[in-house]
Amino acid sequence: MARKFFVVVFASTRRALLNLSNYHLDLFQATAQTAQNQEFTIEGLLSLEEVERLVNDGYRVLIQEEASKRARATQEVTSFQEWMQAMGEPTGEDATLRTLEISAAPPNGYLRTEGIEATLQRLAIAYPSICQVIQLPEKTWEQRTSRAIRIGQNSGRERSGILLLGGVHARELVNPDLLISFALKLCQAYQAGTGLTFGNKSYDATTIQQIVNQVDLFIFPLVNPDGRAFVQSATGDPMWRKNRNPNRGQSCKGVDLNRNFDFLWSSGIGTSSSSCSEIYRGRKAFSEPETRNVRYLLDTYKNITTMLDIHSYSKLVMYPWGDDEDQTTNATMNFHNPAYNGLRGTLGDTAYKEYLTREDLNWFTTTCNRVRDGIRSVRGTVYTVQQSIGLYPTTATSDDYAYSRCFVDHSKRRVLACAIETGSEFQPPYAEALNIIAEVSAGLIEFCAASMTLTESAQEVALIST
Ligand SMILES: [Zn+2]
Repeated sequence: MARKFFVVVFASTRRALLNLSNYHLDLFQATAQTAQNQEFTIEGLLSLEEVERLVNDGYRVLIQEEASKRARATQEVTSFQEWMQAMGEPTGEDATLRTLEISAAPPNGYLRTEGIEATLQRLAIAYPSICQVIQLPEKTWEQRTSRAIRIGQNSGRERSGILLLGGVHARELVNPDLLISFALKLCQAYQAGTGLTFGNKSYDATTIQQIVNQVDLFIFPLVNPDGRAFVQSATGDPMWRKNRNPNRGQSCKGVDLNRNFDFLWSSGIGTSSSSCSEIYRGRKAFSEPETRNVRYLLDTYKNITTMLDIHSYSKLVMYPWGDDEDQTTNATMNFHNPAYNGLRGTLGDTAYKEYLTREDLNWFTTTCNRVRDGIRSVRGTVYTVQQSIGLYPTTATSDDYAYSRCFVDHSKRRVLACAIETGSEFQPPYAEALNIIAEVSAGLIEFCAASMTLTESAQEVALIST
């Protein structure tokens, strides 16, 4: 494996920035931003050869640090037993021995794939009245079984559901740990009748009771377990992003799961048809078992009305659409209308903008602002709320797919779907990961609360005519 370096690439124009996608490099699109002097910057992970190519073509490249020096995937790990103990949960077979006393020492490293799966199962054993395991139907390429959990008291009644996703991209280590930590703390606080405190922000017991009593919270913390196992393996690649599809007959392994959903998949906008690309979209939409597991949750639990997909990094809270700029005035100008094929994916033009209702746009911006404010209240970290297109258009992502479903099939319930990019690196030191976990947990409480208020008024799905 060639040595790789974290870099910042400077592009003098927006066109030059967009042209970078033709190089098939590992550039982190979410980090693209406008810098000083009207320049644009984007972070990435490049070999020295790749840096040389860019420099020869007129880009400036700042080399920061060798990737191997920043990989905590294998250096900072914790066992399931240690993690549970640190979280105040004994790991013995007798769940009645549970104590809510949190040990003095916080967890000291990232959980491995098996630890995350074990935690999900343990949660359902320890809190059977409010937490159940959902075994997902599709085994991964490496034959792992994926699991989600449902948290909620009194599931029998018609109640709205919230779906939280993490670990779609393998190297983004914090978010699966974040989601199971959030799940465990929610169960503990509910059972004990207490509130939850994250840094400077506290939520009272009533808020916790309301969430568990009024909604079904579906948590699928590790969508891509094969990828994480490879990232954390001594013989793997700590900066692996995709799943572990062997892509038989093609040159490289892995599909970018967040380019494999059925939203404008065939357009190729912001995706690649090359197996060696970090944004390889796969053979067809939903070619991957991992994305089919996400679809299964949306298909099976028809009460899901909101979704949040948690990625890293860039400190962003995002709402649809990703393929083009939003507009709320022309319902026929939409992703499902073939008359506009070939016109999508260009920023700054008027030929095409993606439609959504004004009501939905209001909900998205209000909710994303609320999540941002929750995050900030913990220790002052400021996330930016933006439409997910950012500087680069994308298609076939989980959030656009979830939100688009009701436009294609009017029998499907609308799912208001957002995404977060947490923190400022893929694998922060675990002490910093704990801070990110605390602040984004407050954001998750806000997202749940915003989803609950949605259930109070019946929502009408906007039908798009094509
Ligand atoms: Zn990601």
